[in-house]
Amino acid sequence: MTLEKKHALITGGGTGIGLAIAKTLADHGAIVTITGRRADVLKNVTSNTISALPMDVRNEVDVIGRIDEAVQTNGPIQICIANAGIAEGKKLSKTTLEFWRNMMATNLDGAFLTIRESMKSMQTTNWGRVISISSIAGLRGLKGASCYTASKHGLIGLTRALSEDYIGSPFTFNAICPGYVDTPLVYHNIESISKRTKQTREQVRRSLIDTNRHHRLITAEEIAATTLWLCQPGSGSINGQTIEIAGGQI
Ligand code: NAP
Repeated sequence: MTLEKKHALITGGGTGIGLAIAKTLADHGAIVTITGRRADVLKNVTSNTISALPMDVRNEVDVIGRIDEAVQTNGPIQICIANAGIAEGKKLSKTTLEFWRNMMATNLDGAFLTIRESMKSMQTTNWGRVISISSIAGLRGLKGASCYTASKHGLIGLTRALSEDYIGSPFTFNAICPGYVDTPLVYHNIESISKRTKQTREQVRRSLIDTNRHHRLITAEEIAATTLWLCQPGSGSINGQTIEIAGGQI
């Protein structure tokens, strides 16, 4: 139980990648707080070691208040997983400012607020890990998804800069960059791309799978395993990195 008594905060922890990370860290002894907007979704997955706090990462007051509440209940946050995110492709000409701002508010402002508030208590301890869930779209341009791509590039910039700010401290900052992972976000994208492009769902599914170099969807548990590795003893010198999980080079 290498993470015994370590408090882990995971935004978007009620589904997909966040939920797999929550379960894995809890299995290794962490006290886990998950957040998300849908209280019912969170409630369904709470357990002795996983507690839930409804929180919208776009709302600064909410993030400040809920993270403070989590710290009061479970102690300083020592593992911060900035995972909450949305993904939707849109042509530049169809990208409204409202769409752009909502994506940035969720994927980038939300991670910034989560990390800033988590660091307040993490800094009172002598060990901490901050892990951002970016994407292969944080490292290369994803066709038809300029807004998502910009938000995930921004998240990598934030993570890299913070790793420099805290260099030499017991806190590390890394970004995980998955290809296509088997989660509700991908099912939603298959639906919307299929409607937009008039391809069948199976054709779209196949093209997303084929973007992964090993031609299969990645499991959320594979992302969780890498997250766990970054939290295990021996990972302290891995800092400011972008870790691709895409079945091969992207
Ligand atoms: P998911 O199951 O849809 O998870 C996204 C989570 O974020 C949900 O639990 C959602 O909960 C939460 N969320 C969204 N907007 C939020 C907001 N405003 N405030 C608080 N929570 C919010 O999909 P996923 O694949 O696990 O995605 C997790 C992360 O992985 C995302 O950042 C995504 O960009 C990244 N990623 C996914 C893939 C993939 O192929 N699946 C690939 C690369 C990167 P509520 O709706 O209840 O708020």
